[in-house]
Amino acid sequence: MRKPFIAGNWKMFKTTMEAIEFAEDFKKIYQSSDVQTAICAPFTQLSALKEVFKDTDIKLGAQNMHFAEKGAFTGEISAEMLKEIGVDYCIIGHSERRQYFNETDETVNKKLITAFRHNIIPILCVGEKLEERDAGKEFEIVKRQLTTALKDLTGEQVADLVIAYEPVWAIGTGRNASPEQANEMCGYIRRIINELYGDDVSEKIIIQYGGSVKPTNAYELLNMEEIDGALVGGASLIPEEFIEIVNF
Ligand code: 13P
Repeated sequence: MRKPFIAGNWKMFKTTMEAIEFAEDFKKIYQSSDVQTAICAPFTQLSALKEVFKDTDIKLGAQNMHFAEKGAFTGEISAEMLKEIGVDYCIIGHSERRQYFNETDETVNKKLITAFRHNIIPILCVGEKLEERDAGKEFEIVKRQLTTALKDLTGEQVADLVIAYEPVWAIGTGRNASPEQANEMCGYIRRIINELYGDDVSEKIIIQYGGSVKPTNAYELLNMEEIDGALVGGASLIPEEFIEIVNF
């Protein structure tokens, strides 16, 4: 039985003061349950959040990391640095990083390998653009993103991985994929994992949907059979909205 996993992706929002204010407000309305919750915050807010959440089971995530262990990579952050401050998860290959920072399926693959080496669970983002869906290529695109990203990973690692299906046309647009569309792609992703790694891995892997998840659509999306959780952007910035999604 897979435990539902709801993660907030704050993107480049909230100063440290604002993050602490969110965390204190959220803690007051959050109750531990059989849903796993995490906040993926900007790097500079992670230590402060770790401190406020220390007496809860709310996990902490980063939004990116470099694949190298260390080196002359000005402006970058390593997996070891994240692990040292207690980060549990790291979003890898978000479409905004692919679009604005030239991330490719190959760099995503290298980052996954490094994350696992440091016991950080990657939240691997995949998803097609609108023109790709309109051309009927969404399955082909997602399959290519997945198979390249997973190269050289073991079944044991993939069983611990989180995959977020985030169709680019649904991100920040207020136009979520329909529960049927999201379920169809999450089921397709699970079948690919099954073909590559077998039943044990495909039964265990967590597959989230992301893209305009709001309190108003969370229940419907999260009750679909193949959808194990959500990666939430805008609605994770407001404690009262995020808690409604966590408590779907
Ligand atoms: P929104 O929920 O704001 O559409 O963002 C989705 C997303 O990109 C989460 O990673």
